[in-house]
Amino acid sequence: MQYGSIYDLAHCYDVLASIPTFNLVYYSHIPTALLGFLVGFFVFYNLRNLLGGLLFFSASMFSLWAVFDLLTWHAANSVLVMFSWSLLGIFYVLFFASIFYFYVVYVTGKDISFWLKLCVIFVSLPVIFLLPTTLNLSGFDGVWCESIEGSFYTNYYYFVGFLFVFFAVVVFLRSIFTASWKKRLSRGEFYSVSFGVLLLMLCFSWANVIASFTLNWQITQIGLFGMPLFVVFLAYAIVRFHAFSLRIFAAQILVIGMVVLVGSQLFFVEKVINTILILWTLVVVVGLGYLLVRSVIQDLRRKEELQKLTEKLAKANQQLRKLDQAKSDFVSIASHQLRTPLTAIKGFVSMISEGSYGKVEEPVKEALGKVFLANERLITLVEELLSISRIESGRIEYNFALGRVETLAKEIVDTFLVTARQKNLDLNLILPDVSTPKIKMDQAKLHEVFLNIVDNALKYTREGSVTVSVEHDEKRDVVRFIVADTGIGVTPESLSSIFQKFSRGKDVGRLHADGTGLGLFIGKSFVEAHHGQIIVESDGADKGSRFIVELPVHSRVLEGSTESHVL
Ligand code: ADP
Repeated sequence: MQYGSIYDLAHCYDVLASIPTFNLVYYSHIPTALLGFLVGFFVFYNLRNLLGGLLFFSASMFSLWAVFDLLTWHAANSVLVMFSWSLLGIFYVLFFASIFYFYVVYVTGKDISFWLKLCVIFVSLPVIFLLPTTLNLSGFDGVWCESIEGSFYTNYYYFVGFLFVFFAVVVFLRSIFTASWKKRLSRGEFYSVSFGVLLLMLCFSWANVIASFTLNWQITQIGLFGMPLFVVFLAYAIVRFHAFSLRIFAAQILVIGMVVLVGSQLFFVEKVINTILILWTLVVVVGLGYLLVRSVIQDLRRKEELQKLTEKLAKANQQLRKLDQAKSDFVSIASHQLRTPLTAIKGFVSMISEGSYGKVEEPVKEALGKVFLANERLITLVEELLSISRIESGRIEYNFALGRVETLAKEIVDTFLVTARQKNLDLNLILPDVSTPKIKMDQAKLHEVFLNIVDNALKYTREGSVTVSVEHDEKRDVVRFIVADTGIGVTPESLSSIFQKFSRGKDVGRLHADGTGLGLFIGKSFVEAHHGQIIVESDGADKGSRFIVELPVHSRVLEGSTESHVL
């Protein structure tokens, strides 16, 4: 090739400047080249994988093509024009080959096969080897200040470009047909990226081919606008569908786009004041853009941390549940094992103190009484633990039969008469004149509930009285078991929590009252199994309290035909 003679600059410049869209050359080339390069770079920077690399490579080839094409328009001498022009083919082919490669990897989710790679290289090779020959450029047209293209070389690389466009369209149509991308990509993401890629390829190849054949080079400028279009589609896919999992990228794209658009104004301004204004705007855009991107990154990091924490918490929770289950199993087994010896102790202590094994002296009897009471407490505790483990594992069994709440109330008051007397407390029982209706109940369970409530009332009352009453509310069709005392009362804060597992009021320590905080929790569960409710009322500390158990006369329990009911 001959790059030798340097042509008259002014003449060439005049020729080019006479083209109506001459000024547009900067606008079509510089921003698009920059945009392509930066977008490619940021995708690669954020992704660091094959897909990102391919996009970066193809965008770089595109940008290089645009830069060298710009030189062919504005270069001052024929050497530079010829040199730049001769390289266009290679950037052109490399761009199409790499964007095709990118698209196939994007759609299929995996690298292309060895054979396909070989084909891509094979069709591209002639463009590289024939570059320095006259088949590429045959000379320089001094009149129009442009290179004379060797038609074979140019036609060949246009053909290669077309080939890649054609196969990209085939890949696109095939993907629609097989819907193979559906597992990895959302519909919107797939179509946005596909349209972006295909539009870019189509715009660029058609504009160059038409320009080359008509020798109207202004048309190539139109082809370059395929890049902003591609970026728009890409950005849309990223923002809307989180394509490539690049959310930070959306903010970066926005900033790059703004910088490029504002910066490109610099090529048109003629007055100094305007240049200063644009430069100032550029500084502001860069500054604000930096802040925006930083805040997005921080936000995302925080979200990621939060997500990690949530996952950790879920795992910990699962482990805790397993532990809780293991604990329940342990409690259940241990309680069963404890119950048998405790019952044996109870039996033998009773027999000894009754004199079954010979006469028992008074002090020994007293000591045996204490052993008996301590043993009773242990039995209650074991019973409570067993109930808890049964409630939690859902293995509790109910035996429903018709019975009266008054009967239970009488029994319980009788049980506690001695205790009340020992504590100098009045224990009263108020029953309605007309007996309350029978209800279907698990007598043993309700006995346990009522017993605990009356026991608590006596336990948490230092002086005064404990009154047990039973009433039938015909309006609501419920029977109420009420225990009112003049004891330490319940503080407003404790009102809602005393039915929780292991919950004990703060004041109970003052009374040195034994307890586990399980009785009311179990009671609530038993009462709810009867479709009833348990309520506590108190005006506050030292103002006494009222525990009310409300049981429906006609409940679903009544309609059940089986006596035994497993919850
Ligand atoms: P425990 O009596 O074994 O501690 P409960 O579940 O029966 O367990 O009761 C839970 C808590 O409710 C008690 O620790 C106590 O603080 C409070 N409480 C229960 N009954 C009364 C009452 N009659 N007066 C005042 N506080 C009560």
